[in-house]
Amino acid sequence: MHLGIKTNGRNGHPVRPATSAELPVCLLPGPVALSERVQAAFREPLLYHRGEEFQPLFQRVRERLSSLIGGKKTAMFVGSGTLANDAIAATLAAEGKSGNGLVLVSGEFGERLLKQARRWKLEPRLLAWNWGKPWDFEAVEAAMRDLPEDGWVWGAHHETSTGVLNDVPGLVALAKKHGKRVCVDCVSSIGTVPVDLSGVYLASGTSGKAIGSYAGLAFVFGDPADLSHLDAEMIPDYLNVPAALSAIGPRFTVPSPLVAALDAALEPLGTTKSREARFAQIAALGQHLRERLKSLGCTPLAADADANPAIITFAPPGGQSAADFVVRCREWGYLIAGQSGYLADRNLVQIAVMGAVSREDVDGLLDLLAND
Ligand SMILES: *Cc1c(COP(=O)(O)O)cnc(C)c1O
Repeated sequence: MHLGIKTNGRNGHPVRPATSAELPVCLLPGPVALSERVQAAFREPLLYHRGEEFQPLFQRVRERLSSLIGGKKTAMFVGSGTLANDAIAATLAAEGKSGNGLVLVSGEFGERLLKQARRWKLEPRLLAWNWGKPWDFEAVEAAMRDLPEDGWVWGAHHETSTGVLNDVPGLVALAKKHGKRVCVDCVSSIGTVPVDLSGVYLASGTSGKAIGSYAGLAFVFGDPADLSHLDAEMIPDYLNVPAALSAIGPRFTVPSPLVAALDAALEPLGTTKSREARFAQIAALGQHLRERLKSLGCTPLAADADANPAIITFAPPGGQSAADFVVRCREWGYLIAGQSGYLADRNLVQIAVMGAVSREDVDGLLDLLAND
């Protein structure tokens, strides 16, 4: 089986028409379809990570990320989104306390945060909802009242497994009222919708999802002033968020192609206007996909009002198994998600429009489904 992924140029037309016919269209939530510019940046000559060319690039990328999420500083690590969440857990653990946190779980990624918090011996409290439900603030507020003075709450902004986009500004407002801190996993929300993390304590992100680059760089957003109480001796070196926030340039080896590609991916998100245009495009494409799927009898797991536009989780039509459905889409030339254990176990599949995909790409698959 061909493992390549068809990519699109800016205008949505295949960049390599001679071969793209054999390459599937990527409608996965990661890896995502990459623009030709991002791929070209990745192929640029390798730079020494301590060299004078690399440092300005590294700093520019951090600044672009910070500007995208409302101003908090960016700590950059080599790794995937999970590493960023472990770095957040390590930072919480460096306080040397347990039982002062609350984890919000309404899907696979909330569950992973819970596991990570437990492995860092944070002994968090747990609030859980059924898959497909958003955070319920009445329950959250009641649980917050029980947290100690210096307590924190941690959850997934966009619960990628269900497609639910949780209300981070709402959580921040509630936490402020009760004097608690908010940590949030924004791995799959950044790049799909406007994200303002100015009121959060720590948040995570990744290069390989909706920002539209290769996986391999992980981010933690925070304010060094909020972390000045931490004892650096308590923090594992590679996961040291305060050190990575304050460092100029990378602390350890970084592959420059990942940074160059990320820089290229961030460029179209560089101004308020270009961001708005990108988010509007995702919203319109997601809405279109949602309506067409509904007209085929597929019910999205997330209600319209709770949904992130960039991904739809649903049960395959006509009682097909998720595994068979994924294989059929692949035979038609489309990569969709359904092979992760957490989706397969629930017989769910996902179509995502996080990367460089066009309406024609989405309609190609939906036309096949409609005529099936
Ligand atoms: C994908 C994802 C992760 C894990 O990221 P990896 O890059 O696979 O390590 C964590 N949280 C959310 C919300 C995600 O979508």
